[in-house]
Amino acid sequence: MSEEQTAAGLIAELIEVGRDAVNRGLVLASAGNLSVRISETEFAVSGSGTWLDQLTQDDFAVLSLDPAETGAIRDGGAKPSSEWKLHHRAYLARPDITCVLHLHPRTAVVMASLDKPVRLLTLDHAYYVGSIGVTPFYHNGTDELADTAAEALREHNCVIMQHHGCSVVADSVSMAYRRALNLEDAAQATALALQLGDTDTVFPAGDATHA
Ligand SMILES: [Zn+2]
Repeated sequence: MSEEQTAAGLIAELIEVGRDAVNRGLVLASAGNLSVRISETEFAVSGSGTWLDQLTQDDFAVLSLDPAETGAIRDGGAKPSSEWKLHHRAYLARPDITCVLHLHPRTAVVMASLDKPVRLLTLDHAYYVGSIGVTPFYHNGTDELADTAAEALREHNCVIMQHHGCSVVADSVSMAYRRALNLEDAAQATALALQLGDTDTVFPAGDATHA
């Protein structure tokens, strides 16, 4: 296992993402939570009440992915985020993913809450985001929220939960974060297009590939 793939190395990547996500306004105060799969049967998730721009290695809890244990705490210095089920269900639904970023990006959440589809307008949107699922509002920490989001994540790597936030998944921390950034950029671009009077333009080339 390379240095980057150790649990501490993966968590270090999440710490960087948390700092940058707050700097960019993708999440405010102590909202949002980040996780990474650290073995076949465990993931590490940021702790309850933590501020994403101030995370340390001690601010993560290690939870079990064993279906028989439903999120039992294995290790870590922190009490897991109240939204740990969002992460737990996502990893169970998507064996291929390594990272789940749960953020509260304003434009994407407002667009989805107003039932305005976020459109993919640029090559980067099409390549990184691909497709977007939207789920109705459920209170945070509930099984309904976690289960509906996980179900949508079977079809999409980016899911917006109305009146709440988004979950973005990928097979690496860096790809998940690039997806999250492009999801919010697509939402901002769609809002701009609507302001300019355009209601239906999308990226023209179907499946996007980067040269
Ligand atoms: Zn949330």
